[in-house]
Amino acid sequence: LIERGQAEHSVTTTCAYCGVGCSFRAEMKGEEIVRMVPNVEGQANHGHSCVKGRFAIGYASHPDRITTPMIRKKISDPWQVVSWDEAFAYTASEFKRIQEKHGKHAVGGITSSRCTNEETYLVQKLVRAGFGNNNVDTCARVCHSPTGYGLKSTLGESAGTQDFDSIEQTDVVLVIGANPTDAHPVFGSQMKHRLRQGAKLIVVDPRRIDLVRSPHIKADFHLKLKPGTNVAVLNTLAHVIVTEGLVKDDFVAARCEPEAFERWKTFVSQDKYSPEAMEATTGVPADVVRGAARLYATGGNGAIYYGLGVTEHAQGSTAVMGIANLAMATGNIGREGVGVNPLRGQNNVQGSCDMGSFPHEFPGYRHVSDTATRQLFEKAWGVPLLDEPGLRIPNMFESALDGTFLGLYVEGEDIAQSDPDTQHVTAALSAMECVVVQDLFLNETAKYAHVFLPGSSFLEKDGTFTNAERRISRVRKVMKPQSGYADWEITQKLAQAMGYPMNYAHPSEIMDEIAALTPTFHGVSFDKIDRLGSIQWPCNDEAPEGTPVMHVDEFVRGKGRFMLTEYVPTREKVNAEHPLILTTGRILSQYNVGAQTRRTENSMWHEEDRLEIHPHDAEERGINDGDWVGISSRSGETVLRAKIADRMQPGVVYTTFHFPGSGANVITTDNSDWATNCPEYKVTAVQVLKVSQP
Ligand code: SF4
Repeated sequence: LIERGQAEHSVTTTCAYCGVGCSFRAEMKGEEIVRMVPNVEGQANHGHSCVKGRFAIGYASHPDRITTPMIRKKISDPWQVVSWDEAFAYTASEFKRIQEKHGKHAVGGITSSRCTNEETYLVQKLVRAGFGNNNVDTCARVCHSPTGYGLKSTLGESAGTQDFDSIEQTDVVLVIGANPTDAHPVFGSQMKHRLRQGAKLIVVDPRRIDLVRSPHIKADFHLKLKPGTNVAVLNTLAHVIVTEGLVKDDFVAARCEPEAFERWKTFVSQDKYSPEAMEATTGVPADVVRGAARLYATGGNGAIYYGLGVTEHAQGSTAVMGIANLAMATGNIGREGVGVNPLRGQNNVQGSCDMGSFPHEFPGYRHVSDTATRQLFEKAWGVPLLDEPGLRIPNMFESALDGTFLGLYVEGEDIAQSDPDTQHVTAALSAMECVVVQDLFLNETAKYAHVFLPGSSFLEKDGTFTNAERRISRVRKVMKPQSGYADWEITQKLAQAMGYPMNYAHPSEIMDEIAALTPTFHGVSFDKIDRLGSIQWPCNDEAPEGTPVMHVDEFVRGKGRFMLTEYVPTREKVNAEHPLILTTGRILSQYNVGAQTRRTENSMWHEEDRLEIHPHDAEERGINDGDWVGISSRSGETVLRAKIADRMQPGVVYTTFHFPGSGANVITTDNSDWATNCPEYKVTAVQVLKVSQP
């Protein structure tokens, strides 16, 4: 199906799945896509791609696409197809009615990391300027919000420090809480290439992920920690580096705040953080921690790559700060081959955060309470703006259940499936009076919606995505929007219906406005991206062609700041009733909740979510490979087929969440990161028992 004849011309665009941001040529025959070919000139992928990107055209033309707007007064009513004008008028009248009755804070919006920068910018502008509040949030809330908080606190910028190609200069690769060969396959291949050339490898992960042992690659150290103990492990690594005199004193003296460093040094030197003292807590043998710490500190250029296994914890932000501390202490920052590198899950997580879709920040990570910034936006947008942060996604749910938040606009995000503790989410959605879903398909959230606005796929619009290395790349329209409007046009029409003027003729004009109002984007334009191929921000007068490596001469915040990272065990505990820890992740051929990949040929490789369980735990329960098992937690229960896997450690089970029926999030809890409310998806105490059938 991906080969549909002889191509006549091609359009270069960017993959809409993961944070690698591969460039593709959509080869066309008339209006039809013939095939997707990875672009050899792509600066993030150099001509490579994975199966997800190649097959992506399948979902854009899938018969499940909804292409007409629909409304219904009650969620028990059948959907009624309406014109676009009726849909906008109805939505605007409902939001206005709710605001008149319950106050202007009773409505808000959620945007997605699947949207372009320009779309995300418009959603936060609609909420701040059109709704008159700061109740805007993004799905980055549930994945990398701790990255923003942790890196901003320590280094001064909420972004990764390196470009992908930097790994070609790396001597020691430290991967923590990430599985790049499945979740970021093209960069995972680049990493493996470097490892095959001889770079050393340290893996910190509860599972024996493929990187630990694959053809011609064997990790020098695998720290097989207990889920929920990242911060403890990071503190033991820091303890060894400090107490064995492995700190790069000259770097720290020149580049970091001295008082904060001294405090941190005393803090991690405490006996309680010695590898021996922490062994029972983390499950990692002391000699393995010592070996890994020595290798990272003395092995040459050390680069840390991390993912959601770091951020989706009750101490996600603390762990990110712990990682930054390690990089500063060893001088592994500010040049090629080193750095702190969050592997962003979705294609535009970085961009959606950059664009101000958090309730406390304007574009460019500037707090809403900052008067000068607020005045800048007030002047540009022509309305007064609030100086108080708005509601985060979990607060929106709580306020809905309190009866104070009743109208929600959700663009490109299936919160009923992707957010934790599903029963809580659906109860909150059920309590709202007007839920508006803008998406390609009638997703799980649409079951609770009153208005459905048919969105556009990445092939149907212009714009930009920003990948994990801060690289802004063009998304180019390959075909006309099936519903008649691209997503940015829908948001613009909704703003107009609400009485707030938006009149962009093309997404390039939106980017021009972003650039004018955001110092790190001052030099960005569609024309320049077209000329250079892509741009890594910051891009401005100091760096007119972008910035592959950050913090070179000084940190963005001036001096780097060591933060104290006290280990606090999660409140999610195992007991006799729930004796196992469930952790979650992804598989190569599927993507997140699977709304797109399940509608492509990818499902030939992976048709269901399975529960991986160690042979010892399986035997104890009489479970054989392929048996159905019931999984129950304090939040709920679900049924999956078991997969016996000796890569698991005893006491820990694992599953993916690509298929709606299995509902891993039915059993995850409402625990979250102390700083950002990022959910603790990675630690849920469960019981697993054999059942006869689903
Ligand atoms: Fe590249 Fe990620 Fe798309 Fe695969 S899913 S083609 S690695 S951007």
